[in-house]
Amino acid sequence: MSPPRRAALFGGTFDPVHNAHLALARVALEALALDEVRWVPAGRPWQKERAITPAFHRESMLRLALAGTPEPGRHVLDPVELARDGPSYTIDTVRELAAAHPGTVWTLVIGQDQYAGLHTWREWRALLASVQLAVAARPGAPPAADPEVAALPRVLLPLPPMAVSASDIRARVAAGQDISALVPPEVARYIEINGLYRAPIGS
Ligand code: ATP
Repeated sequence: MSPPRRAALFGGTFDPVHNAHLALARVALEALALDEVRWVPAGRPWQKERAITPAFHRESMLRLALAGTPEPGRHVLDPVELARDGPSYTIDTVRELAAAHPGTVWTLVIGQDQYAGLHTWREWRALLASVQLAVAARPGAPPAADPEVAALPRVLLPLPPMAVSASDIRARVAAGQDISALVPPEVARYIEINGLYRAPIGS
């Protein structure tokens, strides 16, 4: 019998996708010996109150970034949450993925900031019962998680600390600053051509 297929679920707003996202996904591929990382842009993130960039642009930037990775075939863009009405809950996505890909072992890949708030996610116990968990350190993120979450097994991903965030990138673009060290060149070009993030709205 062949071993089960191993995949990561990597969700985010990706507004825009940046170099830390890409580094995190590549570290996960390697460290967890995954067949693929499934990138799932959130349709309507339930935790973000600011106006987010239309899904079309976030998806286009993600597509450009993934095509430029050294292993494009192992990074899959999954628009499952973009097609769904209402807020994006990871538990719903996991259920859809499990039904669509029977036999695949799923690992939820998140940064420390998300890990620290995992106990606020919808049906988080059911979620953590159905996926493995892998967490990457993130500079400035709260160091602790809820004790009940922290008691559950998780893999720590060997991502070196990367002080990159989408909010900082949006603020830099609004201030006319350079972002070329923070996003792939195709994404920087897309942001410029489409005039994204020029108005300092939201954060
Ligand atoms: P924003 O600044 O708009 O909140 P973000 O940079 O956190 O955005 P998201 O799309 O919200 O980007 O993040 C998707 C996932 O990537 C989350 O699990 C988040 O923790 C993780 N992540 C993002 N940036 C980093 C980073 N620099 N180091 C580790 N993990 C990160």
